[in-house]
Amino acid sequence: MGAASERAFPAMGAREIRAGLAAREFSAREIAEASLSRVRALDGATHAYLETTERLALDQAERIDAAVAAGELAACGPLAGVPVAFKDNMNLAGTHTTCSSRMLAGYVSPYTATCVARTIEAGGIPLGKLNMDEFAFGSSTETSAFGPSKNPWDLERVPGGSSGGSAAAVAAGLATVALGSDTGGSIRQPGSFCGTVAVKPTYGVVSRYGVVAFGSSLDQVGPFARSVADAALACNAIASRDALDCTSQDVGVDFTANLAEGVRGMRIGVVPAFMDAQGLTSEVKAKVVEAAEHLRALGAEIVEVDLPNAQAAMSAYYVLGPCEAFSNLARFDSVRYGYRDLGHADLGSQYEASRAKGFGPEARRRIMLGSYLLSAGVYETYYYPAQQVRTLITQDYARAYELVDCILAPVSPRTAFRFGEVSDPTDMYLSDMFTISINIAGNGGMSMPVGLGSNTGLPVGVQLVSPQFKDENMLRVAAALETVYGSAPVAPGFAPDAGEPLGRPAALPDAAQAVAGVDLPGLVGADGKAGE
Ligand code: GLN
Repeated sequence: MGAASERAFPAMGAREIRAGLAAREFSAREIAEASLSRVRALDGATHAYLETTERLALDQAERIDAAVAAGELAACGPLAGVPVAFKDNMNLAGTHTTCSSRMLAGYVSPYTATCVARTIEAGGIPLGKLNMDEFAFGSSTETSAFGPSKNPWDLERVPGGSSGGSAAAVAAGLATVALGSDTGGSIRQPGSFCGTVAVKPTYGVVSRYGVVAFGSSLDQVGPFARSVADAALACNAIASRDALDCTSQDVGVDFTANLAEGVRGMRIGVVPAFMDAQGLTSEVKAKVVEAAEHLRALGAEIVEVDLPNAQAAMSAYYVLGPCEAFSNLARFDSVRYGYRDLGHADLGSQYEASRAKGFGPEARRRIMLGSYLLSAGVYETYYYPAQQVRTLITQDYARAYELVDCILAPVSPRTAFRFGEVSDPTDMYLSDMFTISINIAGNGGMSMPVGLGSNTGLPVGVQLVSPQFKDENMLRVAAALETVYGSAPVAPGFAPDAGEPLGRPAALPDAAQAVAGVDLPGLVGADGKAGE
């Protein structure tokens, strides 16, 4: 293998990888081997990965090398040879899918989520499964039953959440593309904290089949990458109608098509109420203002728009989200799925003990909240008005998009915080104050890195929001910002030339063990689908 084995392939972009494969500078096998060994050497510091998928990576590499040898690289998909990894709420047959919960520890996927299958069909080399907040409840990965991931820019800080492992993997150059899921901000907020491009497409653009459900009317899968072009290529790979998810739709758009067009003539909205929001730090606000100025200089018109009901989004979300989560998580009952506490005389106490021990505190909080909110008498007071608020917010966005092509906003009110710094659940929920209304309305939203904050020196992202099924608008604006700010770097401590690895080598389980069957007492569920 020689020098190629030293290369940090996951720190390269998709185009660079494709060109190297075409020129036979390196093989897909070299990419797979060097990437896995980089994960083993460096992930002890970030804990982005829960397990690696060595066998799948090498099988995929073999297919790509065979195509290259046959002169058929052109027929390989847009992610040929690209190291990819998946949030651990996405099923991949033969691997563990735990949602970072004790409830699903040891669960082996019997099937593959459509978004994962499409990424692999597009030529991605699957490196493994990524850490997250338990069942995607959280904004820091601190609710993971397997310990948090760490922010590659500062290992004493959180990477954001719930897709914190996905953001950390890409920021550390331990994957070129990672998939995450976003119910209220879980792609965009960690993207902002870790300084990566992070895209939540319009609800329905990507199939949810095989992704363990949190809030079915809000969940959407999307990519993390270090360049807009890579994110757009990944969107091309995963978007499209899937007969297995009736909410998915064909958009028939090439997400890379207008990236070079610039923003001249585009109208970009800013929301004064967001810019004046309590809790927005001055360094994040300054970055949004700076990005707006750059866009104006590049020829866009900046227009103020009003979203009068957006301030109610948080309240509506913390009604609708827990209600849907409560229903979706009912299947983890220790009989059909999940951890089983043994030795109980009756089923009732088995349910109670299994769910009490299997779920962590935040999951239990959401389940109890959802159960209360959906109960008779209470439902009319909370759930019904929350749905009405949802309609009002959706109408606000529709009105705004009569005036503008895209909206520019903050992602998170602040940069990455320290572990333990935000301990009150309500304070944690405020991490998503600028992202949640977009899930409520079902629009596309993304985080675009715009350099480091002037106070903390940590990555800041700005949020770009598209009308429904016009995700190409926000990608176009992001590409224009990238001409100013550059593509996202690998975090300094993980840069390929940074020298000594930062942490102890990671002792990662390989998914091959899962295929062989893991003997964990009290676990059931290898024979069914953990839920799409
Ligand atoms: N942080 C939000 C929550 O805890 C959003 C989570 C998500 O998007 N999955 O609900």
